[in-house]
Amino acid sequence: MPRTDATCRPGRPATAAVAGALLLALVPAGRAASRPGTEVTRRILRLATGQVEVVPLERYVAAVLPAEIGGNAPAAALEAQAVAARSYAVARLGRHADQGADLCDGVHCQVFLGLRRATPASIRAAEATAGLVLAIRGRVIAAPFCAVCGGRTARPSNVWDDEETPDLVPVEDDACRQAPGARWSFFLPRSSLGALGAELGLPDARFLEVFGHGDDGRVSALRLVAPGGRILVVRGFDFRAAASRLWGWGSVRSTDFDLAEQPRGYALTGRGTGHGAGLCQAGAIVRARRGESRDAILAHYYRGAEVVPLGSLGIDR
Ligand SMILES: [Zn+2]
Ligand SMILES: [Zn+2]
Repeated sequence: MPRTDATCRPGRPATAAVAGALLLALVPAGRAASRPGTEVTRRILRLATGQVEVVPLERYVAAVLPAEIGGNAPAAALEAQAVAARSYAVARLGRHADQGADLCDGVHCQVFLGLRRATPASIRAAEATAGLVLAIRGRVIAAPFCAVCGGRTARPSNVWDDEETPDLVPVEDDACRQAPGARWSFFLPRSSLGALGAELGLPDARFLEVFGHGDDGRVSALRLVAPGGRILVVRGFDFRAAASRLWGWGSVRSTDFDLAEQPRGYALTGRGTGHGAGLCQAGAIVRARRGESRDAILAHYYRGAEVVPLGSLGIDR
């Protein structure tokens, strides 16, 4: 499955605005991301224009923070997000190699609206964590993060198939339960089951039910039933993606939901917004306000990962 929900706003347009972007250089496809001995950079594919912008890694991190967690989040939350964003940018070097880039500027990778979007607080957070990354067994992890986990984080392997995403342990999160987006509801009319079935591969579906939960408590599978006893089992993530395509990302906002059949359709009541894996941005902000440190926040959401300097891993780009 492609990692189409890398951050946390599945419906957010991937074509980020380019106003204010500082275009440093255009590079031809295939050029190396950076050379040993030079400043560490990343090639960012600007989806709106197709241009590739080469940016220093640390300035990239400072510019990503406002788009991802907000430029004025408390320092410990900004710093935790900075370490996560840097880890992702290091682990995902060359993700868009086919397009001559490392990362794109949309939710597929990390939202980057241009270097000028950095704020004084985000620049301080990048500087305070310069070169620090999350690693497990000596390997930098492509640290996932999400808007609001809703009370418990997701196991990444229940969200993505790729081997680059670390299989983090789901953790309880009491910090985000009052956050906007922590609770949602959606009504799926019975008359829309056909459209959903068509999107998923069973066009005349008449019945829908939850068919399994992962060890993170999220819906891992649903079952669609059509006349004649024909059955289609789909993964929770695919169900949510199909609903997002049909009815927008604000419909099924996460795979952590209950589903109740009613005479006219199905009532979904859910928790959290986004894939739910890794650092919960709403929770991190609350934890920072409670006085938790950057490292305590990272240790909570990335259990088993260490915060280490890139240089200690022998990585220079
Ligand atoms: Zn991308
Ligand atoms: Zn949370």
